Amino acid sequence: MEKITNNEKETLGFAKEFAATLSSGDVICLSGDLGVGKTVFTKGICEYFKVSDIVNSPTFTIVNEYSADSGETIYHFDMYRIDDEDELIEIGFDDYLNSGALCLIEWPEKVPSYIPKNSLKVSILRDNSSDDARIIKVERF
Ligand code: ADP
Ligand code: MG
Repeated sequence: MEKITNNEKETLGFAKEFAATLSSGDVICLSGDLGVGKTVFTKGICEYFKVSDIVNSPTFTIVNEYSADSGETIYHFDMYRIDDEDELIEIGFDDYLNSGALCLIEWPEKVPSYIPKNSLKVSILRDNSSDDARIIKVERF
């Protein structure tokens, strides 16, 4: 599935449509350059699940934990600052992945050996047509 969005609002809208297809326990990898819209896409998913917490890149903490309206937990990771996958042992990353909660992972390329085979992959690219245009691809790993 592929979609071109022309602004942040359209990306939020597409993320909500995507979120409607998710089940608890799904792992979603969000790839793309800095500032392309991975966190915006995450916000859209969280809006769909009526998360009332503030959704921001967890750059200093690696993981943010949100509560959906249903009571379910959503984990949001940003692996940008991970230099060595062993750092994930300390935070017990496997336990998050196996918790049955929805897990959203920015910069999955930093932790390739931890990414489950059945993850969903969302890739966001800039489109040449305008500064705010993005090409968003969704696929199973
Ligand atoms: P990332 O998490 O990938 O580093 P962010 O989601 O934090 O990036 O930031 C994306 C930035 O790009 C935001 O400032 C947002 O307003 C802007 N933006 C412009 N056009 C779009 C678009 N089509 N989709 C998503 N974000 C967009
Ligand atoms: Mg981000």
